[in-house]
Amino acid sequence: MVQQTLVLVKPDGLVRSLTGNILSRLSESKLEIVAAKMSRVSREMAEAHYMHLEHKPFYPELIQYLQGELHDRRKVMALIYWGEDAIAKVRQIAGETNPEEASPTSIRGSFGRIRSSGLFENVIHASSSEEEAEREIKLWFEPDEIIVELYPTRREVIKELKVRQWA
Ligand code: UDP
Ligand code: MG
Repeated sequence: MVQQTLVLVKPDGLVRSLTGNILSRLSESKLEIVAAKMSRVSREMAEAHYMHLEHKPFYPELIQYLQGELHDRRKVMALIYWGEDAIAKVRQIAGETNPEEASPTSIRGSFGRIRSSGLFENVIHASSSEEEAEREIKLWFEPDEIIVELYPTRREVIKELKVRQWA
């Protein structure tokens, strides 16, 4: 089944210059990248991204982690991978959530660590179901930032919209 999935290179991945390595490992999936950008992560974005974990004891630190506050690197790289069984393929290459349990050849097994607090600093995020992928892709990307049609869109005329242009 053709699917799309959201990948984030988390701030620890960026700060440790792992982006190239992560992208080349993901390229082994033969999936297509259909959107990519660097994104600053506001508290609202971090909280929306991880809203399903709100009740967990590690949630406050997780929000700080995604915002880059633990690594002094306030951004992530966001990508959408698209193709046959994209969700499982990317999760496989990413590895288990806990870096100690992840296959040593996976991204998280190779580069992840557990902080002294217990938080899993695991380098990348990858959507884990079609529902999650849809929610996350719509959270991180606007329709025009994606080069294929993934979900239905509607056209709206927005009057007096103030936009920034090149001077
Ligand atoms: N996390 C953690 N401890 C846990 C579970 C999760 O630190 O016991 C962190 C970890 O960074 C993980 C993120 O919270 O990537 C989201 O958790 P989820 O269960 O969704 O794992 P994922 O989908 O990222 O594998
Ligand atoms: Mg998850």
